[in-house]
Amino acid sequence: MPGYELIGAEEQAQVDDIFQHGGVLFRHSFDHLRQDRWKVRDFEQEFAKSVGMPHALAVTSGTAALRVALAVLDLQPGDEVITQSFTFVATVEAIIEAGAIPVCAEIDGTLNMDPESLKSLITPKTKAVIAVHMLGTPARLFEIDDICRKNNLVLIEDAAWGCGGSLDGRPLGTWGQMGTYSFDFAKTMTTGEGGMIVFHNEDDYKAAAAWHDHGHENNPSVPRWEDTRASSGFNFRMTEMQGAVGLAQLKKLSHVVTMQRKNRDSMWSAIEILPGIIPREVPAGSYETADALIFSVADKATAKKCRDSLLTEGLSTKILPEAVTWHFAGTWTHMSELVARHGGDLTNAFGPSRSRLERAVSLPVIVKMDETVPARLHTALAKVLS
Ligand SMILES: *Cc1c(COP(=O)(O)O)cnc(C)c1O
Repeated sequence: MPGYELIGAEEQAQVDDIFQHGGVLFRHSFDHLRQDRWKVRDFEQEFAKSVGMPHALAVTSGTAALRVALAVLDLQPGDEVITQSFTFVATVEAIIEAGAIPVCAEIDGTLNMDPESLKSLITPKTKAVIAVHMLGTPARLFEIDDICRKNNLVLIEDAAWGCGGSLDGRPLGTWGQMGTYSFDFAKTMTTGEGGMIVFHNEDDYKAAAAWHDHGHENNPSVPRWEDTRASSGFNFRMTEMQGAVGLAQLKKLSHVVTMQRKNRDSMWSAIEILPGIIPREVPAGSYETADALIFSVADKATAKKCRDSLLTEGLSTKILPEAVTWHFAGTWTHMSELVARHGGDLTNAFGPSRSRLERAVSLPVIVKMDETVPARLHTALAKVLS
């Protein structure tokens, strides 16, 4: 999880710095007031540097980041974008908002996109693929990237939970043509609400920057109303206050990930010997953000019993099994675009994904873990799994 555990004096100081130097809360202009404070711009530059990318654009949320990234692709009605059945609802919402048809691939043992399923879903209408690193474990990027290249598809990574993680030494979010991040209050680093997109190509960056700002081709050397425009757009601009908090949180990111990994490891050490506990598959070369510790058990009933026993012990689960409703496409009967693809009924859609998810249990990992947690996890789970 949790940048929110570490919100403190550093974030406060960054915000105070704005108020003590002109109080400009807008990312552009007001040069005569702002005393050279450019928090969003600085945050973008620092973030880009931290993942080794040439361009980054801050936006209002992780959902907005996906929407803006898709705007770069100039999708036409009937175009298809493939993502995975296990993701937050936002990934599919962004595809629908972009006017494309959402297609969800099955997941494999990594609980991320199954490359074989991806291959089977590609049609002449497919334009892009959004791979998600659910709960901080990298998707099979080598395979997915290869499939995208061979089929001339744009790869976008939804790294909402991948911030601070990597595969084969390459940060998550930098494998695709674009990568998106979320800084909502439950993510690895937070600005309250917020998001970021990183780009390899300057043209993509420019298109996204304009689209997220009503089409403004921002030119600091002229008054804002003289900016040129080549397309319409929308408003997904980040405020200076979010940028300020982001600057402070970014400095804490590697500490957050280090602590989460350490705590995840001690949690796992306490329970891995239990009979019938199967760890999530992790691609070789992964550096996970360890946002959650996920394992599977024999069946749905056992997963439910694990959750009940954890609650009795004063512990909890995260997303699986209790909140799969917001994270599994097979439950999204409110999305007509998705339902239509599956014959008007999702009951039997995504069978392989459903059977993996209903057997899975996900334990939240935090930074400031109480040291009694691993032993209590063992106690709670041993009651079910012995
Ligand atoms: C959190 C999340 C988002 C959306 O981010 P917000 O900042 O909450 O809009 C998108 N995709 C995934 C996988 C997420 O977990």
